[in-house]
Amino acid sequence: MLCECGKDHKDIIESIRVEEKIIEGLLEDLKEYNTGEVLFVTDLPVSKAYQLFITELEAVGYCVYILKREDDLLPDEQGVGEIILQTTQATKLIVGIGSGTLNDLCRYVSYRLNIPYWIVMSAPSMDGYASTASPILVDGFKKTFYCHVAKRIYGQKDVINHAPSDMIVAGLGDLLGKITALTDWKMSHILHGEYFCPMIYRNLYDYIDNLSDNLSISQEELGELICESLIQSGIYMSYVGNSRPASGAEHLISHTLEMESIKKGEKVDFHGIKVGMATDYVLELYKDLRQNIDKVKDHYQLDSKQVSDLLSTIDKALEYEHLVKDYQQLILNIRKKYSKDQILYAMKQGPVIRDRFTILSIYQALGWGNL
Ligand SMILES: [Zn+2]
Ligand SMILES: [Zn+2]
Repeated sequence: MLCECGKDHKDIIESIRVEEKIIEGLLEDLKEYNTGEVLFVTDLPVSKAYQLFITELEAVGYCVYILKREDDLLPDEQGVGEIILQTTQATKLIVGIGSGTLNDLCRYVSYRLNIPYWIVMSAPSMDGYASTASPILVDGFKKTFYCHVAKRIYGQKDVINHAPSDMIVAGLGDLLGKITALTDWKMSHILHGEYFCPMIYRNLYDYIDNLSDNLSISQEELGELICESLIQSGIYMSYVGNSRPASGAEHLISHTLEMESIKKGEKVDFHGIKVGMATDYVLELYKDLRQNIDKVKDHYQLDSKQVSDLLSTIDKALEYEHLVKDYQQLILNIRKKYSKDQILYAMKQGPVIRDRFTILSIYQALGWGNL
């Protein structure tokens, strides 16, 4: 059925199963493959969280390859190469067990080999499970590659709910980032007529409302709720064919900060935490932009309808300012790490690292003023 945006959104994910115990269901789903045709890939910390599950897989003859790192696993050439070396001509499916980076690596390699991949989630830390893009570090520079989505998504509740709390905080941050991502998207639609889906816009805001109404529930339940919202956000990305509904200026800032950390050999903080932090800075930009709406009107030669649409879009985002400000209290240690200059640099890099129209593009066009 055609959506109000004019597209026929296709569900390309065959199944999503977040259950108490996933081994039986997964083995059932794997029946169409011989054991030698499937490569499982995980990393060291997740191999411990999913230890029993992995033992059960190995017991029935599956190969589970562990990417071993002393520090954090990076989505880099080494990771890509290692996984490729574990595949053979017979490999017909890659199943990743893990979260962010591991998911990006498995998605990228499986796409290049033209075979499907499934993912077993380990934490509600980001929305990349159902996304089509894999950011891979190429010579230290984060490049976003268009890939495919996981055909099947699994998650075992006890593992997801017992994920380290900073991963849950990260998932929350990635979700808050949708506020500015959606605002950037709608703004681009108003200013440039970029394709836009009102249904996705409304529904993602509903997920954020639902989350903000339920923040007081136990961490365990919160993990599941965040997980569900992040998967849905990923599904919406797959509906659109790119990450537009879920990734705007806040992601560009986060990616730049990440590249800078990697260049300096520093520890890389969770993606979602940096996104949640950047969301606060981008909301501040939107507040400033609202005050300077006349400059925007002149520069983009907007009519009064466009101006009022733009203002109401910004006001919608600013309704969530409290939620975003409260979140910053959870990540004070991360905020302390980045100086005002570093944040401003990351903002200015936004339009450089990716050709995506966001509020950063507007500031690039209008000048950064007194920021
Ligand atoms: Zn639509
Ligand atoms: Zn994200």
